[in-house]
Amino acid sequence: MTKKTKLQDKMFAEMQDKTLFKKAENYAFDYLNKVFDRHIFPTEEALKDLSKFEEPMPEKTGDGEQIIDLLHQYGSPAVVPYIGGRYFGFVNGSMIPASLAAKNLTIYWDQNAAMQVMSPIIGKLEIIVQNWLVDLFGLPKNTVAGFVSGTSMANLSALVAARYRILKNKGWDVTEQGLFGAPKIRVVTHKHIHSSILKAISLAGFGKGNIEVVDCDTQGRIIPSAMPEIDNNTILILQAGNVSSGAFDDFATICKKAKEKGAWIHIDGAFGLWAGATKRLKHLTKEFEYANSYAVDGHKTLNTPYDSGIILCQDEEALVSALHTSASYLISTEAREGMYYTPEMSKRARVVELWAALKYLGKEGVDEMVYGMHERAKQFATAFEKMDGFTVINEVVFNQIIIQCETDEMTTAVMHKVQELRDCWAGGAIWEGRQVIRISVCSWATTEADIERSAASFEEAYELVQEAMATV
Ligand SMILES: *Cc1c(COP(=O)(O)O)cnc(C)c1O
Repeated sequence: MTKKTKLQDKMFAEMQDKTLFKKAENYAFDYLNKVFDRHIFPTEEALKDLSKFEEPMPEKTGDGEQIIDLLHQYGSPAVVPYIGGRYFGFVNGSMIPASLAAKNLTIYWDQNAAMQVMSPIIGKLEIIVQNWLVDLFGLPKNTVAGFVSGTSMANLSALVAARYRILKNKGWDVTEQGLFGAPKIRVVTHKHIHSSILKAISLAGFGKGNIEVVDCDTQGRIIPSAMPEIDNNTILILQAGNVSSGAFDDFATICKKAKEKGAWIHIDGAFGLWAGATKRLKHLTKEFEYANSYAVDGHKTLNTPYDSGIILCQDEEALVSALHTSASYLISTEAREGMYYTPEMSKRARVVELWAALKYLGKEGVDEMVYGMHERAKQFATAFEKMDGFTVINEVVFNQIIIQCETDEMTTAVMHKVQELRDCWAGGAIWEGRQVIRISVCSWATTEADIERSAASFEEAYELVQEAMATV
């Protein structure tokens, strides 16, 4: 007679009776009911209560319901609600409802997206989404997509594909022979490139110290005339959307020429590439199709849930050869295996959330949402221009604003005060040697009223800081 263990009995019962899942769902709905109007950063008390999670690893098997209770009681209040409309920190997107719901369904499927045979449905959706993205961005038909955790991983994937192609063209197979003794690859980029590019450069073995760094203009755009001679040993890394200013490099001036010289051009477009999927902001990405690879996030501008990056690459053989050890086997089969296009093997079925967001929005919805973020950013910038004490120091070409007060001290104090008021949230950065506050409008949920309320909070913060400074 076969016998189940006590632990198996317990877990079968939990799967059957679903109280645990219903409880989690009720708590989630409770969170959702409040999230659009709650304070935008956890209170001091909520942060202090995180100590409730401190305990040694339990010896004994626990209780599922208690775990969910604990998580909701002390976890939910300490969540930063960027799914609402007044979170402007970093570039953190909200969630499209249909995309969230699709995720909810598929968490029960628990699919491994590595191979078709592991999950035909996920394999299918990866192909569909790849085709949709190529169409949406207007990229050449031979462009392929890999579904990765985020743009950091997409940037790394692109650089190893570039490394493969450049060395292969010189008769050197980097996957077999490695980098020691290989022909030298030049990496050309500019001083305002994102830190994840620097990380990818070091992970790929190029060495940050070997980068040929090009100067930028005041917006953080590469200065084309300051670029060194580009050749077929060069990986040129450009940017669609500077993480602070939102600036786009001038692809139309640079890409076609660099491509003719035989360079590999990679564009980091974590949030900015989506401009290229709109009618009204498409000019920002003019001629980006001459690049070889692109990194973009679903979880930023497209507002999918987190863990949704994409590597788009026009050179399938280079990408697959760099990321997969037996490319020849792949070429001989019909199936597109998800794992050949990413550094990972097992991975979550993240493509479902992308598929649902794109299917829900359609091309019109993408245009409306992304352009809406731009319009709200313009509204915010106009509000700052009318207020005392603030200067907008970037051209608001997309969804990012950088502002500054009279002194660095004042800027920092106002930023902290805004964060303390918890009506909205924005973080800081150093721009051209000065302290700035950076604002990113990256949520479908941001309304005109949210901008008005947030602008009022900045005004209040400024006055409070001024008063405090006057009394010391
Ligand atoms: C956010 C961002 C990244 C990193 O993306 P992750 O998804 O966080 O890995 C890279 N480049 C730019 C321009 C970004 O804004």
